[in-house]
Amino acid sequence: MLIIDGSQGEGGGQILRTALSLAMITGTPFRLDNVRAGRRKPGLLRQHLTCVKAAAEISGAKVDGAVLGSRSVSFKPGAIRGGDYTFAVGSAGSSTLVFQTVLPALLRAAEPSRLKLSGGTHNPSAPTFDYLERVFLPQLARMGASVGVHLGQAGFYPAGGGRWSATIEPVAQLTPLVIDSAGALVRRRIIADVANVGFDVARRETHKAAELMSWPVDTCEPRTVKSAGPGNVVAIEIAHEHVTEIFTGFGERGIAAETVAASTVDDARAYLAAGAPVGPHLADQLLLPLALAGGGSFVTMPPTQHTRTNIAVIEKFLPVTFAVEQIEGKRWRIVVE
Ligand code: ATP
Repeated sequence: MLIIDGSQGEGGGQILRTALSLAMITGTPFRLDNVRAGRRKPGLLRQHLTCVKAAAEISGAKVDGAVLGSRSVSFKPGAIRGGDYTFAVGSAGSSTLVFQTVLPALLRAAEPSRLKLSGGTHNPSAPTFDYLERVFLPQLARMGASVGVHLGQAGFYPAGGGRWSATIEPVAQLTPLVIDSAGALVRRRIIADVANVGFDVARRETHKAAELMSWPVDTCEPRTVKSAGPGNVVAIEIAHEHVTEIFTGFGERGIAAETVAASTVDDARAYLAAGAPVGPHLADQLLLPLALAGGGSFVTMPPTQHTRTNIAVIEKFLPVTFAVEQIEGKRWRIVVE
């Protein structure tokens, strides 16, 4: 049994999620100690517990320590089975992270899968549904994975209640992916969604972001969406030929719409200034698919602690090594060998 220290590096939930994904695929049992020791509220939160239970369900795993707040989890996977599954986080915790945990295993199943997910769909510190749909999954599609997602209703913290579905066609082997450049600009837009919050908030966010980006007003797409509770998210979307990136900000009570727009613009500008096609979040999310493909590389921004920690966990399960090299300035290359 592999023993993993959950306090290493970032000390967050990604150590658990990557371990679950790779345990299922490689058939390697593991015990994770010091679960999320680097976080303010350590141990398993609802989202992480749902990840463990979802992984156990699709792989018939034997699990110990799968309770809220648990600081140690052991997981002994069986065979992966595709099919129809319903995964409910039961809070506003991120359902996209639950999806990303089971996706690599279900791509390896003998049969297709249809998933129904519920919980948060637009959470800070997680890929939003939009990010999953337009940034992450298109890269997986380039690697041969056929995955469809459909949003029923958005879920925001604290009410949650988001609903969505996914279909996954198995693929025997992902093909390596190389992203050296973004290619030509295809589309740029600023979407702001409000649910049970005044439409003016969305309008102000998009207009402020457009002004700060020096983009024309027709790039603004303020929208009203349905959700169980209040919510507001702004997304700056930059689609190039080979990669789309989305930079996301969340409205909060007491924080001006213009302030939310400005901090989201900071992230988008940092990306454009770096001149690297892959942003910091997509970088850590591509590591596992590339490792499973057994090759590939991408040019990205300076690697985050999250990326470095994820690399360390992947290298424990798979016979791959990652080379992380600075090219120049803010451009780095990550290569799977
Ligand atoms: P926790 O212990 O709270 O679960 P964690 O380490 O698992 O923490 P984060 O580091 O916050 O969680 O990130 C989880 C995942 O969400 C990472 O893959 C990260 O790239 C992704 N992510 C976070 N913020 C964004 C964002 N704004 N856009 C896209 N992806 C994001």
